[in-house]
Amino acid sequence: MHFKELNLDEKILHAIEQLGYTEPTEVQQKVVPVVLGKQDVLVKSKTGSGKTASFAIPLCQLVDWDENKPQALVLTPTRELAVQVQEDITNIGRYKRIKGLALYGKSPFAKQKFALKQKTHIVVGTPGRVLDHIEKATLDVSKVEYLVIDEADEMLNMGFLKQVESIIKLLPNERTTMLFSATLSDRIKKLSSKYMKDAISIEIDAAE
Ligand code: ADP
Ligand code: MG
Repeated sequence: MHFKELNLDEKILHAIEQLGYTEPTEVQQKVVPVVLGKQDVLVKSKTGSGKTASFAIPLCQLVDWDENKPQALVLTPTRELAVQVQEDITNIGRYKRIKGLALYGKSPFAKQKFALKQKTHIVVGTPGRVLDHIEKATLDVSKVEYLVIDEADEMLNMGFLKQVESIIKLLPNERTTMLFSATLSDRIKKLSSKYMKDAISIEIDAAE
């Protein structure tokens, strides 16, 4: 299969080509159309299978460049992952000039507060700092239409469930929610059934 079969804009296809990706991975083939259709999705696929681009590609395509407030929020368990995902989004959204911003703890709040005053399409961050910005009204989530919970298993292992739930409750109800994980525990299934609507479940290499 080729990326051209995924109904992507020329600008996105060009960026993917520049990244050297010749064909979509299995998870990308299955997840991209679901996200483009704005359906909630629960994805289980092993580490290294290309989950980041499976949400970054459709998000970059879906966001409206003209909107000044963030339209997508990606939650990650670690600072390193937030930075990595933000870089992937910047690369994929390059020709659409998509602005991604990473927010994480143990880093000056004021600097992030300033960055949030600029146009930002997609915010990527760790739960504690994202919640902090929402509560202090430095991050306006009123236009957030897409929520991604990345590495959900790690997120729960690190004890972020409460913060993730607090964030979800502050987001608009009209949204598309995507949950990605390398493993699916009962806790993750519970989280997904609590906050997703008619979610499509995509499990790759179910046998592990
Ligand atoms: P996961 O989140 O599933 O662990 P990542 O999204 O981090 O995996 O991707 C793993 C690696 O595969 C990254 O280095 C990424 O750049 C690369 N990659 C992703 N999609 C493709 C593709 N379609 N073709 C080639 N490499 C890809
Ligand atoms: Mg990942």
